[in-house]
Amino acid sequence: MNESITIVGSGIAGLSAACHLAETGADVTVLEQHDDLGGVAGTFASDGFRFDSGPSWYLMPDVFERFFETFNRSVEDAYELEQLDPSYRILWKDGDQLDVPADPAALAPKLEAYEDGAADAFRRYLDHAEEVYELAMDRFVYPRRSGLLDWVDPDVLRSVRALPLLRSMDRYVQQYVKHPKLRQLLEYKLVFLGGSPYNTPALYTLMGHVDFNQGVYHPVGGMQSVVDALADLAADLGVTFRTGTEVTGLRSRNTHVRVSTDDETHTARRVVANASPAHVEQTLLSPDQRDHDAKYWENRTYGPAAYLLYLGVKGDVAPLRHHTLVLPPNWDHHFEAIFDDPTWPTNPAYYLHVPSKTDPSFAPDGHHSVFILVPIAPGLRDGPARRAWMREQVLDDLAQHAGVDLRGRIVTEHDACVSEFAEHFGQPKGNALGLAHTLQQTGPLRPSRRAKSAPGLYYTGADTKPGVGVPICLISGEQTAGAVLTDAAA
Ligand SMILES: Cc1cc2nc3c(=O)[nH]c(=O)nc-3n(C[C@H](O)[C@H](O)[C@H](O)COP(=O)(O)OP(=O)(O)OC[C@H]3O[C@@H](n4cnc5c(N)ncnc54)[C@H](O)[C@@H]3O)c2cc1C
Repeated sequence: MNESITIVGSGIAGLSAACHLAETGADVTVLEQHDDLGGVAGTFASDGFRFDSGPSWYLMPDVFERFFETFNRSVEDAYELEQLDPSYRILWKDGDQLDVPADPAALAPKLEAYEDGAADAFRRYLDHAEEVYELAMDRFVYPRRSGLLDWVDPDVLRSVRALPLLRSMDRYVQQYVKHPKLRQLLEYKLVFLGGSPYNTPALYTLMGHVDFNQGVYHPVGGMQSVVDALADLAADLGVTFRTGTEVTGLRSRNTHVRVSTDDETHTARRVVANASPAHVEQTLLSPDQRDHDAKYWENRTYGPAAYLLYLGVKGDVAPLRHHTLVLPPNWDHHFEAIFDDPTWPTNPAYYLHVPSKTDPSFAPDGHHSVFILVPIAPGLRDGPARRAWMREQVLDDLAQHAGVDLRGRIVTEHDACVSEFAEHFGQPKGNALGLAHTLQQTGPLRPSRRAKSAPGLYYTGADTKPGVGVPICLISGEQTAGAVLTDAAA
């Protein structure tokens, strides 16, 4: 294909789409408003420490392998990958702790301590999770099925014993285990999809396969190594990058799309927007070219925003591992505070990333790079007083419940919250993860890859299909490139 394509945004999906389109011979230019590539998959340095500012769990390694193989490359050539073992640690605030080993067979017997028969139930749960994962990837995700009818194919429904998968994840998990801590173990990964166990369909039981069977990896150097590898590949394929270039307007004409920036206006045969569709429709397109009104976007269910604290710390941080979850034994009030009654949580469930535990490039000797993520409701006010309150709460909580007191030895410190995601990334209500994967926002019901009222404009990224997460956005870029190629060939 020899068309000119402009990509608005260099997030994971934008980079993936750029690679797939440039591979076909298209003349691809990526316009990125910031100076760095990668979108929310960012990194920054401070006082000798480094931090992954966004994603830190490298999951679904098969998706990355498949991506690089498409371009006759390999993950091994692109960056060094280490499997973590244990994959992560859970610290419950009642003093209990569980290390999740890389080998699920080693995890199963540990679960018997919580509930009779849990080991067997866990094995059955994982078998079904694997079945759902294979089927979802082979039949829906990779073949780009996007119509509603594709998803109600009776053979497909029968083959996955599908109806229970439309229930909430929590109800489904309770068919296997009842103990609250075991339910938390099986349900936590839904937060990664921007949902809760109560509003996410059990279809996402496939995350159990991702979590326990496939394992958790660390790209040496952090997520930046993945972004660098994607950018290098794109450059080798001939993609042009223009950073520090904000797109301020898009206008679809019959045979091209006009792209405005602060400095100039140019035309491209087609445009792929990696910015969220809500942001593009409401700020870049004129009303006659929008597929939805403001009310539509206002009424979507967004994934959590996040209070993020980045700390460079002197001394040891045991018992924290590379990945640690700190959970109250009852987390219902926290999910209510995110999805039902938006308010700042008072007894939060939160996540810590300490990459310096396994990768010395993140912190000077004798120090650690600590990232704390507290999921919160999108749209909350996050002024200095609120942030200071949350900071104290989390540091107190860590000292009291996780046995690690970081206060008094913090060398460098930064935070980010609702405002940064709204202002830096145009995320609706400052959410961090994108549209939640509720039943109404799953599969064919997510925003379309093609802008219907603005021919020649396409979408890719976490707010479109298939959805949220670094590997899923890699696939999103491939899918949107596929839609562009289909239309170009028509
Ligand atoms: C805090 C956090 C933690 C996460 N943790 C994980 C994890 O551990 N593992 C995982 O797999 N996933 C994780 N995720 C999710 C994952 O990071 C995202 O789903 C994914 O990176 C989103 O990529 P994207 O392609 O949608 O683009 P985005 O990252 O949203 O990038 C969009 C790009 O478009 C640019 N842009 C927007 N508007 C314009 C404009 N007008 N002009 C020019 N450029 C523009 C933006 O600057 C940005 O660079 C996390 C996300 C966050 C925020």
